[in-house]
Amino acid sequence: MQFLRSKHFLFDIIITIILVLAALEGLFLILEVTENTFCATLASYDEQLDCMMNWLEGEDGEFLDPEEMYARLAENTERIPGSYLTCSILNADKQVVAGDSISYTQIPSIQFYSDEQDYFAVNHVGSLFPKFFSDQSHFERKGGSITMSAQEVSNWLTFLEMPYLDLVTDEMIYYEKEFTAEDGQAYSLVIGRYLTVPGAVGRQMAYIVIIYAGVVLLVGVVILCHISASKKDYQKIYHIAYVDRTTGLRNRTKFELDAALYTKYRKQKTKYAIVCIDIRKFRVIMEYYGKEQAGQILKEVADILKTELDKKELCAKDKNDVFLLLCVYDNIEELKERIRVLNGKLEAHFEKDKLKFAYGVYCIQDYSKDWKRLINYAYMAKDVVKESTKDNILFMDEDKKEQMHRERELESEMENALQKKEIVVYLQPKYSTDGASIGGAEALARWNSPKLGFVSPGEFIKLFEKNGFIVKLDRYMLDAVCQIQKKWMEEGKNLITISVNISRVHLMMEDMVQDIIKIIDSYRIPRNCIELEITESAFFDDKAVMINTIEELQKAGFTVSMDDFGAGYSSLNSLKDLSLDVIKLDGEFFRESANENRSQTIVRDTIDMAKDLQMKIVAEGVEKKDQVGFLDAMGCDLIQGFYFAKPMPIDEFEKIVYGLS
Ligand code: C2E
Ligand code: CA
Ligand code: CA
Repeated sequence: MQFLRSKHFLFDIIITIILVLAALEGLFLILEVTENTFCATLASYDEQLDCMMNWLEGEDGEFLDPEEMYARLAENTERIPGSYLTCSILNADKQVVAGDSISYTQIPSIQFYSDEQDYFAVNHVGSLFPKFFSDQSHFERKGGSITMSAQEVSNWLTFLEMPYLDLVTDEMIYYEKEFTAEDGQAYSLVIGRYLTVPGAVGRQMAYIVIIYAGVVLLVGVVILCHISASKKDYQKIYHIAYVDRTTGLRNRTKFELDAALYTKYRKQKTKYAIVCIDIRKFRVIMEYYGKEQAGQILKEVADILKTELDKKELCAKDKNDVFLLLCVYDNIEELKERIRVLNGKLEAHFEKDKLKFAYGVYCIQDYSKDWKRLINYAYMAKDVVKESTKDNILFMDEDKKEQMHRERELESEMENALQKKEIVVYLQPKYSTDGASIGGAEALARWNSPKLGFVSPGEFIKLFEKNGFIVKLDRYMLDAVCQIQKKWMEEGKNLITISVNISRVHLMMEDMVQDIIKIIDSYRIPRNCIELEITESAFFDDKAVMINTIEELQKAGFTVSMDDFGAGYSSLNSLKDLSLDVIKLDGEFFRESANENRSQTIVRDTIDMAKDLQMKIVAEGVEKKDQVGFLDAMGCDLIQGFYFAKPMPIDEFEKIVYGLS
């Protein structure tokens, strides 16, 4: 998309350059035409002046008779566009006392006369300059000329002074000659050229300009049409690539690009955080309201988010119901408060729909890191906080980052672990309290990954329970245990009951019982050689389903045990509805504590109760001799603990068991 964008800009730049060049070319053309015309004008103008001087001075350098001069002038003078000849008589103080001008538009004529006055007058001015000589009836014809009233002469002089001044300043005086008039005073005759904006040239130029402007305009319109068409295409593609259709916000891709840009040009002390916002149970909302109304909800969330942001901040909509913010912050407490306020607004707005939100925050440390990764940190925090019912804001810190990074690592390897049999079964024997015989064993998963090293069950089981992979692991372990039993059966050995852990997720699956039966039966081994350990906390999920499933399993011939008994707080309560086969006392009772006496009391009473309810009792996590002695005295059935044996590989187990028997 970057490519597309830059291509578009390139196109725009090329078009702009073409238009500028066209405009410049037009300008040059106009200048050229003007200059040519101007030069031509000047050339013929100079010629005309030469001519005129000849007439004025006559062959012998004397002034001609005015009549004669007029005739010559009329005959020879060409009409020169945009030009004026001025002819002025100045007194000794350089003041204009008389004058005339010849312009393109007039029939050139100059007449001098000097019979009554000391200055020259003009013959046609009234017709040419009505502005100055409005009242022609005042003019008195005299020998083909006009005699002006004093006022008119004064107007005329004012007019002529202008050209004279221009002549002087523009150094365009062509001819200057001093002479003595009949009054004995010294005057000078000044002939100058005075160019105005040329009429015809102007018109000619105007045509060119109009034609040229027309062409440029036409080309411009065509180009603009093209640009707007390609702009529309670009907008369409831009929309597809960068805009979220439901909310109109920028999408994740655009967020990454913009975030990189915003932070690149940030001030050094400006700090940014990424906030990942998720609507809790949005799937349920979709299901309940339908897609359209759910979309409307997303749009309203987007609108609220937009109003909360500053100029330097960003907002985007990612996949499903996740929004991303790029926020400026000073300190974490202030940012937390800001999110709380935002959450208050969102929850208030959606009070009717009872919407709840989860916020994962990552305060960026290293702006040079890949944005996918930075956003992922906020995502990870959001995922964790979404699991929690207590909190709704979680800041991703370095420890959590590390832990989550590790989880991603494990997750990327877990499928492999089963396929390549990196996870193996270890068996931990369950001894009779006197240690004389082995009454069973528990299958425990051990993962030795060539890539990650030894991974403790405490780590991967928790993760698999979270991501659901535990169901696969349970089936894998069950399958492996069945293989062992089958092998022993085929070798004619006495079968020892092996217990397999069944996770809560697995237990809640509809076809769980059938699933287990299918696996075990496929090996044709007796069902009672497999025991199923169900962890105590599973009993709180859905009691009715639980009771039903356990009864089904028992009916199918399996032994079912309640694992970790006593670790939760309502173990006793669940026993009243469930007729289990075995109770496994949680190892915590045998950990060292200040209240050993209390622990002993509970253990004793639990054993008594189990006996009354006709259940077997297994003590787990027993490490010490005196504990074994105590359990023996209390009538506990079996002991599983490091005191007798740690979990071990199958071949080792075989040696102990079949060596013993
Ligand atoms: P659990 O089912 O309660 O298993 C007993 C745990 O106690 C095992 O830990 C075992 O090694 C440990 N243990 C046994 N005797 C002693 C002792 O004397 N002292 C101490 N300190 N610990 C003892 P492990 O193998 O680390 O497994 C931890 C948990 O992971 C298990 O607890 C079980 O809930 C789960 N797990 C292990 N394998 C599987 C599996 O295949 N499927 C499922 N769903 N869960 C499994
Ligand atoms: Ca267990
Ligand atoms: Ca246990």
